[in-house]
Amino acid sequence: MEKVDYILRADYLLTMEGDLSVINDGAVAVTGSNIADVGTFADISEKYTSEKISSGKNRVIFPGLINTHTHAAMVYFRGLADDMPLQEWLEKHIWPAEGKWMTGEFVDNAVGLAAVEMLKAGVTTYADQYFYQNIAAEKLVKIGMRGVLGAGVIDFPFTGYAQSVDDYFINAENLINAWKDSELISPCIAPHATYTCSPDNYKRANELSEKYNVPIHTHLAETQFEVAECQKRYGKTPVEHLESIGLLTERLFAAHCVWLTDNEIELLSKRSVGVSHCIESNLKLASGFAPVSKMLNAGVTVALGTDGAASNNDLSILGEMSTAAKVHKAVSMDPTVVDCRTSLLMATKNGAEIIGLGEKTGSIKPGKKADLVIADIDKPHLNPVYDIYSHITYCMRPSDIETVMVNGKILVDNRKLTTVDEAEILDIARQWQEKIKDQ
Ligand SMILES: [Zn+2]
Repeated sequence: MEKVDYILRADYLLTMEGDLSVINDGAVAVTGSNIADVGTFADISEKYTSEKISSGKNRVIFPGLINTHTHAAMVYFRGLADDMPLQEWLEKHIWPAEGKWMTGEFVDNAVGLAAVEMLKAGVTTYADQYFYQNIAAEKLVKIGMRGVLGAGVIDFPFTGYAQSVDDYFINAENLINAWKDSELISPCIAPHATYTCSPDNYKRANELSEKYNVPIHTHLAETQFEVAECQKRYGKTPVEHLESIGLLTERLFAAHCVWLTDNEIELLSKRSVGVSHCIESNLKLASGFAPVSKMLNAGVTVALGTDGAASNNDLSILGEMSTAAKVHKAVSMDPTVVDCRTSLLMATKNGAEIIGLGEKTGSIKPGKKADLVIADIDKPHLNPVYDIYSHITYCMRPSDIETVMVNGKILVDNRKLTTVDEAEILDIARQWQEKIKDQ
């Protein structure tokens, strides 16, 4: 009998590998930061022993959820400006608020709140695009959460963070060098969008990404405004424009991709560009409906993202799964699209693949990192159970998440954070609220 750190047992175990079949009365053996083995509880308990064996009754285990596009620090702008179009929202509210408030201390505090919100909702990894990512990285390591942190690049200086465009690249290279060997943090570079980044800055970002083999995280084809602006500047759509400057590679993952032609979908598939679908942000800003079912049919790897909390307004991937699964059925007048298995795949395995962590996380498989979630299904809205996948997509809420493990460490234990003081984080958020509301 081999001794392991944990044997996590559940009535239902979803590995998100192979044919996606459910392991009834399943168990995961965890040793150190890794998944040692997975199977039925009977098989696992024949081979392994542990001092920590979870009971598993009325529980389901699935891989930690992955939020592939957010701006975590924007949680402090949650509900600051709602019910208006993207450009007005950005230019009149979000950018001025960021200009006034965003400092290293702001990012440190806000990322704490975002991480707590995501962990309690079963999100074990997020991919971010923002500034002061060194500070975000320190915070995540302290908490124990996984992050793919993209150093933002825009064409204009940002007081306190980048006095010139060169500073964005210096900061990005410093971030990459500081964190490239980290267990939890994967640094990357994040040119904002075609309307805020010149072709030269995109190319510089691409060179840096190639030099260090790190992903590029950008916004792409989010609104009709963006497409029109790109046509005006370059005579091309955003996808054609990025293709013409060599950005469309397997290292790129792009948020939104709402306004795509059929040819552009084929091109994204051919170039192995990953897509982060942010349905709730697109709905709230009335940006449009991304052609998700067409992209999936064309072989594009589509994952899910919340975008920042200022345009969502929460960071729940369970919420994105449910919304995406329903909206695309209505949009395509086809109830078979984005079925409940596909939605969980998008939220787990596909997510890990597009952000460059496919070998490390996204499914429950021996050798991968132990990033997983146990949900309590002993609830009225989760009974009876005929198909557990259906419940996770259509019925489960963040408050059903009971235990969250990242890298073999339990960060949420019976709904309580183990590495941070949630009350203190909420208190700090309210102190910022008092300052920001009077801006
Ligand atoms: Zn975004």
